[in-house]
Amino acid sequence: MKHINSFLLLIFLIQNLFGQVENWERKASIMVDSQIMARGVSDNHVLNIMRQTPRHEFIPVEQQPNAYMDYPLPIGYEQTISQPYIVGLMTSLLQLKGHEKVLEIGTGSGYQAAVLAPLSNEVFTIEIVKELAERSAKKLKDLGYNNIHVKWGDGYQGWPDEAPFDAVIVTAAPPEVPPKLFEQLKVGGRLVIPVGSIWQELWVITKLEGETMDKESVIPVRFVPMVHPEKPIPDQD
Ligand code: SAH
Repeated sequence: MKHINSFLLLIFLIQNLFGQVENWERKASIMVDSQIMARGVSDNHVLNIMRQTPRHEFIPVEQQPNAYMDYPLPIGYEQTISQPYIVGLMTSLLQLKGHEKVLEIGTGSGYQAAVLAPLSNEVFTIEIVKELAERSAKKLKDLGYNNIHVKWGDGYQGWPDEAPFDAVIVTAAPPEVPPKLFEQLKVGGRLVIPVGSIWQELWVITKLEGETMDKESVIPVRFVPMVHPEKPIPDQD
């Protein structure tokens, strides 16, 4: 028994050392079927991409054994990677066809950006915590994603030099829809965003002709707040 325990401990340590999760494709597939499809997300492109995306790669080593579980996980700097179902739901609500230029606010671990990348043409993602922006940019590059641009900055400003966007996804909750994000959306484009402070709701907002919006509430959600920078962030464009 003692030997078995030491053996298991050794396996665990080796796995952690190399950041590996055994059979991750199988785990990702079970995650998609039991957590995402089972709750009604039916967009096959999104489901297939989530089966093929190594979620554990975006998670600190000590949390990797939980990478495919049905809950959000800490990623450091008091931030979290969203629950897989929420990633699947929000991605499917964007209704991507493959040609889009997408803006994400709140890069965090980089996982949501990795899910968006094969479903669109280009992903621009902004993160306010410098260390997270740097870490996820490196991770995405190491994993071979070459259509994702990560910027350290304030998401409330959007990315004016790259606007307009076909789709915008916000993964931190502002108290109200940030006007610049709506401005930087194309007519016909969709903005998927959690809005509120204590009570938050996930909204899908479509930009109509004449700068009007169509707003649809999806479900109540719980995201970290979308914050303002403590000090101005230098523009790196
Ligand atoms: N999409 C992420 C999870 C996001 S958690 C993933 O796949 O892992 C929300 C992230 O939003 C955090 O990393 C937080 O630092 C960031 N954030 C909060 N306010 C922001 C702002 N004003 N601009 C950009 N990022 C912000």
